[in-house]
Amino acid sequence: MDKMSAPIVLATHNRGKLEEFRRLFASTDVHLRLDDFSTEEIIEETGVTYRDNAELKAREVARRTGHWALADDSGVEVDALGGLPGVNSARFVSADSWENSREILLRLMETPWAKRTAMMRAVLCLASPQGLVFFSEGVVEGHILTWPRGQAGFGVDPIFSVDGDTSLAEWSQELKDRVSHRGMAVQGIIPIIQQVMAL
Ligand code: IMP
Repeated sequence: MDKMSAPIVLATHNRGKLEEFRRLFASTDVHLRLDDFSTEEIIEETGVTYRDNAELKAREVARRTGHWALADDSGVEVDALGGLPGVNSARFVSADSWENSREILLRLMETPWAKRTAMMRAVLCLASPQGLVFFSEGVVEGHILTWPRGQAGFGVDPIFSVDGDTSLAEWSQELKDRVSHRGMAVQGIIPIIQQVMAL
């Protein structure tokens, strides 16, 4: 399929997310381009919701580049921790994702399996240079394992299980994309992108 000519600028520099977005859009006619600036370092995530932060990033990149921009804000919500770390997942106790995963494991040391339920949520914001915004959200439910497993993926993938046994870091990328919060959110935003780009 020919890619639509006008690019959508992807407002992320998280390598894990970047690879997922590339795969998730690979079979579409959407032409994704990377932001030339170090977006997430420059744009502070000052919002209190995923939606706020995704919107902040997308609006800023659209304004700066003069192109439509797509941003993602995501996190893991652990029920036994009252939904923490949630919107602060990337900076829970540290900027290091293994430190954050270890903190979740430590806080759940005494928590039985049935109460280790969690979800990952992703909110995408598509913004035009003129300030129009559209959103899409995806969620995947699972459990926090007692020990990390697997080498693939990023963030909490090694401690997050959808099937109650293996971690997402043991799954093939294609399988993760089929069930993931980001995969769902991308499926929701693709028709919106196609409509606005066709106008
Ligand atoms: P953001 O960069 O502010 O959106 O925060 C993303 C954080 O949420 C990551 O650092 C992870 O802790 C978590 N997270 C979100 N999506 C995923 C995923 O697909 N796999 C693993 N961790 C994720």
